Amino acid sequence: TTVGLEMINVSASWDEGIVELFEKIKRENKANGHLTGDDGLFFTNLYVTPVLKSINLRLEEGMMLAVAGSTGSGKSSLLMMILGELVPSEGKIKHSGRVSYSPQTSWIMPGTIRDNILFGLTYDEYRYTSIIRACQLEEDFDLLPDKDKTPIAEGGVTLSGGQRARICLARAVYKDADLYLLDAPFTHLDIATEKEIFDKCVCKLMASKTRVVVTCKLEHLKRADRIILLHNGDCYFYGTFSELQAQRPDFSSLLLGIEAYDNITAERRGSILTETLRRVSVDE
Ligand code: ATP
Repeated sequence: TTVGLEMINVSASWDEGIVELFEKIKRENKANGHLTGDDGLFFTNLYVTPVLKSINLRLEEGMMLAVAGSTGSGKSSLLMMILGELVPSEGKIKHSGRVSYSPQTSWIMPGTIRDNILFGLTYDEYRYTSIIRACQLEEDFDLLPDKDKTPIAEGGVTLSGGQRARICLARAVYKDADLYLLDAPFTHLDIATEKEIFDKCVCKLMASKTRVVVTCKLEHLKRADRIILLHNGDCYFYGTFSELQAQRPDFSSLLLGIEAYDNITAERRGSILTETLRRVSVDE
């Protein structure tokens, strides 16, 4: 089998801006009892906090990885590392190189909806139609004066957050790549649309592609081939859903015991997951 994505003992830190660094030094001097006057700063105990620590994972081509974890645990940073935007301080990353990325915050450029999806690539009717169907965009287009040729952004129609999210997802899927990175692609979508798109687009249409999807939904974790659970930059768990239940029984039963966890907003789900991870990491 061919490797779709592999990380071996990878750690990374974001460089701190000079202003943040200065503030940090001041805070640390205060905490150490040094009052910073004109006699200079004490550069003691200064360190850069790693954003990801000793991450190991291995996906075969065509597998889906679900990236879950507490708020600010490094989920987006993990994707930035695969993209090459965040350079590991240690370890090795392997993948075939052709990556398509859908960021957490959707963005639209001036032009038509179709321009926004094709994003410079040639129009292939079959590919395009199957993607807009899988992303539940067809019905939206039917309501617009010029369907997907309707101009958006400046002077054009205003799109809802959910429409923007689905257009950005369609753009990422339209690009031909070996590895797809989808950062929280279901934000702003209602439960029913999220379910449809996960099923039709991420699971079916993209079935043969290697996928990394940031999501905290249990249904998604169950359907993924591998799960990575991050907490404060540490890998709290890596493996399959059944391994999660076997190796992290306390965590699993807490989360599975929360009624309607999958049916609340992604934001509240994130807070619950954060609280649950905090609790179990303190207990362990
Ligand atoms: P959330 O659940 O809020 O989306 P996350 O798990 O995706 O969070 P990250 O966005 O990866 O977590 O953030 C992890 C840490 O890295 C945070 O402390 C954040 O401030 C920092 N960070 C993220 N992106 C950058 C960046 N481009 N430059 C510097 N620091 C960053």
